[in-house]
Formats: sequence, C-alpha cells, structure tokens
Amino acid sequence: MLSAMKRIPLIGAILIGLAFPACADPRLDALVAAYPDRLASYSDTELVWKDGSRMPLGTRQSTLPFAERLDRASIRDQFAIPYPLASSPFQGPALDSDPGRLRNEAFFLKMYGDCRKGEVTSKLRAVPWLQDHGGGTIRITAVNGVANQLEKVSRELDRLPAAMIAYLVPTSGTYNCRPIAETNRLSVHAFGAAIDINARFGDYWLWSKRPDGAVIWRNRIPKEIVEIFERHGFIWGGRWYHNDTPHFEYRPELIALAKQGWPRE
Ligand SMILES: [Zn+2]
Repeated sequence: MLSAMKRIPLIGAILIGLAFPACADPRLDALVAAYPDRLASYSDTELVWKDGSRMPLGTRQSTLPFAERLDRASIRDQFAIPYPLASSPFQGPALDSDPGRLRNEAFFLKMYGDCRKGEVTSKLRAVPWLQDHGGGTIRITAVNGVANQLEKVSRELDRLPAAMIAYLVPTSGTYNCRPIAETNRLSVHAFGAAIDINARFGDYWLWSKRPDGAVIWRNRIPKEIVEIFERHGFIWGGRWYHNDTPHFEYRPELIALAKQGWPRE
C-alpha cells in the first residue's frame, strides 16, 4: 500500500497528466474541437472517435513525393501545409502549397459516409441559396452542422453588392459522387461537404497547366466572397498552388489553426 506521503504526488501527477497529455498537439486539438459530434480525443498514435473506433494518425514527417502523398495522406498530413487566411496577400502560392488538399480518405469516409454505398444522400439537407437573388436550393450534408454553416454563408453573400452576385448564382454544384479529376480519390463533393460557386468565373489548374507541367495561378473571385466562406469554416481552393478557385469545402480545423497563428514562428 502507498503511504499518504506517496499518494499525494501520485494524484498530482495524474491530474497534471489529464490536463496536459504527453502527446498534446494543437493541430489535433483543433481537429477534435472542429467535429465535436464525431471525435472524442487522440493518443500519440491514434484518433479516437465518439463511437469508440480508432484510426492511425500516421507518421509525423512524411518523406513521400507530393503526388504520392496526395494519394496516401495520413490524418497528420492534413495539417502539413498551414492554411493562410483572407487577410494574407492574394497571390499565387508556392510550388505544391495546397493547404487542405492532403486528405486522409478513411477519415472522410467515416465522417460523412461512402456515396458509392448510398451513405451520403440521406444526410444531405436542402439549403436556400442566395434567396434574394433567385439562387434556388442546394443540397449539402447536415453532418457536423455543415448545412447550417453554409446557410449562414448564403445569407451573408446575399447582402453583397449586386456586381458580385454573378460569381455566386448559379452555383456549379455541391454533392456529386465522383472522384477528383484524373485521380481515384473521392472529391469532397462526394461527401456532400463542398460547393463550387459559378464556374464561369472559376480557374482550375488542370485547365491552365502548361505543356511542361507548370501551373499558372489565376483568380477572378473577389476576396469579399472568400472571407465570408472562411468566416464560417470553409477553406478556398484559390489558396492552392493547384488552384480551383470556384471550390470551397468545410474544414473548420484549418481555419481555427490559421486564427491561432499556427505554425507559430
Ligand atoms: Zn469543387
């Protein structure tokens, strides 16, 4: 049996351990906080879901070439490239700087369901899109409150000056059970958690790639639109070297980290 003298430090150590887990990681804290309905906690090696299932976090430092990393991204890889917020200069990102484009497919399948098995459509909710400007109705996942957040985005966009409405109405789609162009990876549209605003004003790296493979970054989307999406947890494909400027997807953990100034210098 422990003596009273020995018990006190032991209890103290346990309490400190609970408050400051040895593996505390601000990125994973942001991830768990962003999806409170589904995620519970994490250990040094695994993400723990509310239903008790566990997923490997992956290695801390990947040495894979970028193209392979896209195909086999781990949960930790999702944070490898920090997301800059709208106040940052609007300019072309550095080579392969695609914040949010590294996605662990198992994580997204578990979070939103597999559209190929009919698991996504039942979770979609109809949301009015720019009601004051005849935007009709769009369907987006209700998981994680994504539909509620997009509804807030829509209401704010509706109040923008008339000249900006053409960028938003009509939209070029939300849910679509399809892979990303020229890949086998599912698009975030397949999870019902992404929207493309009017593609007529959009620029996409695959359309503008030069014969030598270099990407020409170009954007016509006003920053006022981007700022509204980001305020409600959606990241923008215009911040990617492999740009996709009409594209927005729900990744509130990346926005939260950007607000915290992660990574700190
Ligand atoms: Zn898209």
